[in-house]
Amino acid sequence: MSYIKGYRCTICGAEFKEGEVGLTCPHCGEKGILDVIYDYDELKKVLTKEYFSNNRNYSMWRYAPIMGIKEDHIDEMLRVGWTPLYHARNLEKELGVAKLYVKDDGLNPSGSSKDRASGVAVLKAVEAGAKVIACSSTGNAASSCACQAAHMGLKAVIFVPKRAPIGKATQICLYGATLVKVDGDYKAAFQLSKAAIDKYGWYNRNAAINPFMVEGKKTVSMEIAEQLNWEPTDWVAVSVGDGCTVGGVYKGFMEFHKLGLIKRIPKILGVQSTGCCPFVISSETGEPLKEADENTLADSIAVGIPRNPIKALNAIKFSNGAWVSVPDSDIIKAMGLLGRTEGIFGEPAGVAAIAGIKKAVELGIIKPNETVTTIVTGNGLKDPVNGQKAVSMPDPLEPNMDKLDEYLRQKGAI
Ligand SMILES: *Cc1c(COP(=O)(O)O)cnc(C)c1O
Ligand SMILES: [Zn+2]
Repeated sequence: MSYIKGYRCTICGAEFKEGEVGLTCPHCGEKGILDVIYDYDELKKVLTKEYFSNNRNYSMWRYAPIMGIKEDHIDEMLRVGWTPLYHARNLEKELGVAKLYVKDDGLNPSGSSKDRASGVAVLKAVEAGAKVIACSSTGNAASSCACQAAHMGLKAVIFVPKRAPIGKATQICLYGATLVKVDGDYKAAFQLSKAAIDKYGWYNRNAAINPFMVEGKKTVSMEIAEQLNWEPTDWVAVSVGDGCTVGGVYKGFMEFHKLGLIKRIPKILGVQSTGCCPFVISSETGEPLKEADENTLADSIAVGIPRNPIKALNAIKFSNGAWVSVPDSDIIKAMGLLGRTEGIFGEPAGVAAIAGIKKAVELGIIKPNETVTTIVTGNGLKDPVNGQKAVSMPDPLEPNMDKLDEYLRQKGAI
């Protein structure tokens, strides 16, 4: 049974019933991104704490009743979600917060949080009887879409900017998708994909446009709430590109709050790179969002024109959160720090929020007595080129005991 009540336009607030609209608001056009709204009173009767403690589906599909999907095909899908949430005992000391949890979303099937959205997209495409699914992305939405499409026997056509890291581009090809490597930036890739989707009528997984992408993304917060025994931390920190992830993080908590499952919604810290931070600039100047350069090595958040601005801005505003930006040099340091202290390898955009927490503590935004969860949104093995900037790789060593002794002493290993 479907608990969807309808769709609400994030710009004009108009509401539509199932079947009345396509992917975006007919009054506001492409920018009129919709929110999926549910019959929360009915859902409240079903989604109780007891329901969840008896639910043995340890994947994001455990939230199916509040994801707007039919359940017919979920058993055929790859396992997405229910990623581990670790108490980061070592890293919390380094960052100076009362308690830190790290949610490792790099452990999803294609190695990033995007699997949550792509899973829903592919399921929706299957429900709709589509044969081809298409999207444009900085790399992770693309590789996750290709991954999940392959598993469900759909064809995928994927548009990425030419700078997409080799790990991600390799994934896309390996999963058998048609890769369109656009000679331009993400903006160019997005435009071309849009024209092609209009022309060929493929199922559209473009993050912001398709309201169901947030329905997948929000499951990360639902998991955090459950994993912390219904008492989420004071803050949740996450990096922001298009804004779908952070919008989902807010919606997950907001809906669990509505259902009476959690008492409060965590404050959300939105983190961008100083080389590409349209949201941070807008929050500092009070002016509307302006197009920014895409000048950061954190490719997944190199988004000059965010495609989901309203959901992102609302997530920070309604949660009483904050925006911060961090330089790429701090992002690289955070990669090494997370690896060294917790044994987790995140890609640059995956650890940017950790650099953001450090900065927010320094600025007094996060207080030393507050608790924080951060989401590592992507796996470091996707981008070994930038990973190498966080380490110093040793030269080959002569296989000789004296040389070894000298080397180990120099490294402080003995
Ligand atoms: C996509 C992505 C983000 C940001 O998500 P948006 O929805 O674009 O804001 C952050 N980190 C990683 C690893 C990503 O792939
Ligand atoms: Zn509208």
